[in-house]
Amino acid sequence: AAAASLALTLTACGQNSEGGSEEGKGSAEGATIGIAMPTKSSERWIADGNNVKRELESKGYKATLVYGEDDPDQQVSQIENLITQGVKALIVAAIDNKSMNNVLQQAKDAGIPVISYDRLILGTENVDYYASFDNEKVGELQGTYIVEKLGLKDGGEKGPFNIELFAGSNDDNNTRYFFQGAMNVLKPYIDKKQLVVRSGQTSLNQVTTLRWDGGTAQKRMDDILTSSYKNQRVDAVLSPYDGISIGILSALKSDDYGSKNKPLPVVTGQDAEVASVKSIIAAEQSMTVYKDTRRLAQVSANMVDALLKGKKPEVNDTKTYDNGAKVVPAYLLEPVAVDKANYQKTVVDSGYIKESDLN
Ligand code: BGC
Repeated sequence: AAAASLALTLTACGQNSEGGSEEGKGSAEGATIGIAMPTKSSERWIADGNNVKRELESKGYKATLVYGEDDPDQQVSQIENLITQGVKALIVAAIDNKSMNNVLQQAKDAGIPVISYDRLILGTENVDYYASFDNEKVGELQGTYIVEKLGLKDGGEKGPFNIELFAGSNDDNNTRYFFQGAMNVLKPYIDKKQLVVRSGQTSLNQVTTLRWDGGTAQKRMDDILTSSYKNQRVDAVLSPYDGISIGILSALKSDDYGSKNKPLPVVTGQDAEVASVKSIIAAEQSMTVYKDTRRLAQVSANMVDALLKGKKPEVNDTKTYDNGAKVVPAYLLEPVAVDKANYQKTVVDSGYIKESDLN
């Protein structure tokens, strides 16, 4: 929603971009760019890292790509090393969005511009640009899918249906946007008691999943089924990410969901990971949200290229993403809801997933 389709070019931008332009003159050619990604435990970040590297190399840059293995301290020291090695710009997908103040001050002092990649880095002015998706829309797509599948969207007195809510890692700024977006859609039905959260766990801090871990989500779903669903059935589960959805589905299947008289609930997801698209084809997970991370890689490489050449990166949102120290100018891409009906057209025909990987 916030990401209007019109693309405007910033005319006034932060101090750093000037620094970037000074730096940039003559130094763009063949410069090395540091890319810090959060983890290899999820497909999307492996693809993100490779795509960003490839995009930068296609523009004549060199790139050093590091993965923080979901350990915030490790990621900070990796970025320190990149600064010491003399990278000319940084593209960072943070593990803990609040852990970057000191290291990004070092970047600033060395005249290195910083692109916050996918996840907004909080609490520091030393973030020049943000490249991401419309994160609130991601949650809205998930919430909308649930109410449509349960037939609530058509109005009337349908229900009550039982739903449980899961959110992402509490140290990832995206988590609250995804959850907010989903709750924009779900909350009115919860208020009218057409949707009932039997566990009673409805506030964000009750439903987060540290480091987006599928095993952690599985355990929480197990506990909820034991404590709140003895004589009840769960009809829908809001899941923010495919790895979490797979964990939730394991818990459900261990409790006999998916058998003849106990259908699986509607289960959402995000990222169009291969395992989840397969699960969608097998009618287990219901949907995922596809975000074309190839485009995200292009956007962030374009931002770096512009900065190092003394130009203004293209942005399409200058209002939404306040990181506590400043509103970070952003380029936001559109997420797309994917289920059994459109996965072929959206993720296969576009080349995002190879058909052969789904067999
Ligand atoms: C990303 C999601 C991803 C999640 C877990 C979020 O910051 O925006 O695409 O599912 O991290 O890796």
